[in-house]
Amino acid sequence: MLLCDFHIHTKYSDGSVELRRTIDLFGQAGFDVVAITDHVVNGDSPIGKLAHRFRLTVGVENFDAYISHIRQEAERALQKYGMLVVPGVEISKNYLSSEKSAHILLIDITEFVPACWSYEKILLAAKEQNALTVACHPHHMSDMSKNTLFLWNNRDKYARYIDAWEIANRDDVFNVISLKKYPYIANSDFHKTRHLYSWKTLLNCEKNIDSIKRCIRHNKGVAITLFRN
Ligand code: ZN
Ligand code: ZN
Repeated sequence: MLLCDFHIHTKYSDGSVELRRTIDLFGQAGFDVVAITDHVVNGDSPIGKLAHRFRLTVGVENFDAYISHIRQEAERALQKYGMLVVPGVEISKNYLSSEKSAHILLIDITEFVPACWSYEKILLAAKEQNALTVACHPHHMSDMSKNTLFLWNNRDKYARYIDAWEIANRDDVFNVISLKKYPYIANSDFHKTRHLYSWKTLLNCEKNIDSIKRCIRHNKGVAITLFRN
């Protein structure tokens, strides 16, 4: 099975490790597939504005450079490690209220999607690009300061637009996802080197982006594992 991590941050947003070093860490650890998913933060709230001020977000102005840098690293990763690297973002709608906030991975993205758009508009734009949509850390987390509950609380309306839900994120497991029988994956939400050791996804499919998206959307041949040193 393919060892995968679809939720990884670098210095393009609030990660502490440069993109190239991040690729080498995952490549040397034997991963088959990773997605780089730096934050695209909304600018329409006080906490969102702070992220922009401190450059902790990818924006429309550097999106193309970000994607082409990932593609360049992807070529190197394929040759050096046989590892598939997929460009993505984490749309991060941050508000003071957890009930209004949500984070969404758009994996295999090609065009910029602003985080200040409505949830519906963002998810439809992702579908148009055939990007994989993943609801991140959708329930209460052990780190209580940053719960993102909007999508879970409004799942009856939004589940149809979401390809998979994070059933586990770093050290947290969200049992409620399995109760609803939604498609699931598990990711590190990598920001620091030590986050390499965390929940991961195993996929029983070919190592190419179309097979991977199909496997996750159909939720067949998907398993999760706790990757430890
Ligand atoms: Zn997040
Ligand atoms: Zn994240």
